[in-house]
Amino acid sequence: MENQLKLLIKIQAIDTQLQKSEEIKKKYYDDIEAIEHELTGEEGTFAKQKEELQNLEKEHRRLEWALDDVLGRRGKAQDKLFSIKTNKEYQAALQEIEGIKESVKKQEDEILEIMEQMESLRGALKKNEEHLKKTRAEYAQKKKQVEEALNQYLQDIEGQKEKREALVKEINPQALRDYTILREAKHGLAVVMTRNELCLGCNMKIPPQIYNLVITGDDIIHCPSCRRILYIEHEPEHIKTDTGIPGK
Ligand SMILES: [Zn+2]
Repeated sequence: MENQLKLLIKIQAIDTQLQKSEEIKKKYYDDIEAIEHELTGEEGTFAKQKEELQNLEKEHRRLEWALDDVLGRRGKAQDKLFSIKTNKEYQAALQEIEGIKESVKKQEDEILEIMEQMESLRGALKKNEEHLKKTRAEYAQKKKQVEEALNQYLQDIEGQKEKREALVKEINPQALRDYTILREAKHGLAVVMTRNELCLGCNMKIPPQIYNLVITGDDIIHCPSCRRILYIEHEPEHIKTDTGIPGK
């Protein structure tokens, strides 16, 4: 059977990662949502401009009809000139024609102005449509990347769970129960490293005879202060113990 302590260290590493996974998953989903949100914003602006153009076109048609109407009136007024008998009537008719001419001029100016607006809006729409096309492609690509990364991540999680199951089969059930209770009580940190005879879980000093057992690494040793399971990073710690604290 594999060293129980080593098994516990591996299980804890997996558990820590699994605990973080929900946060990481949420971040992926948030990223996808942000991409969709940005695109929706651009689509909205484009739709608004299109609607604006439609309104201008409607107004343009209305002005054209109004102009036709006025031109018709001008024609009639001009025809009337031929049947006029008195000078007074003639003057009145000329005045009417002048008035009509002015409104023709005014309406033609309005039409010109609206046509200019339409033209510039059409130009902007064309540009925006091209930009939007590019943006749609970019966002689709980005979204695909994030989704792929998410899937990869979810697969990794499944892999980790399988690994954990395999480790659990090898571990002594009592040691696992002990670990589970400790992990719950110690906010996810049941197995902790020791350094320079200190428990890095609670920072309390470990008595030398217990520390020596930790160095041996054969059994599961608990910190006398916080009850966490202790382990030591063997190679570097040995050097540190040997050179750093002589005589111990
Ligand atoms: Zn401790």
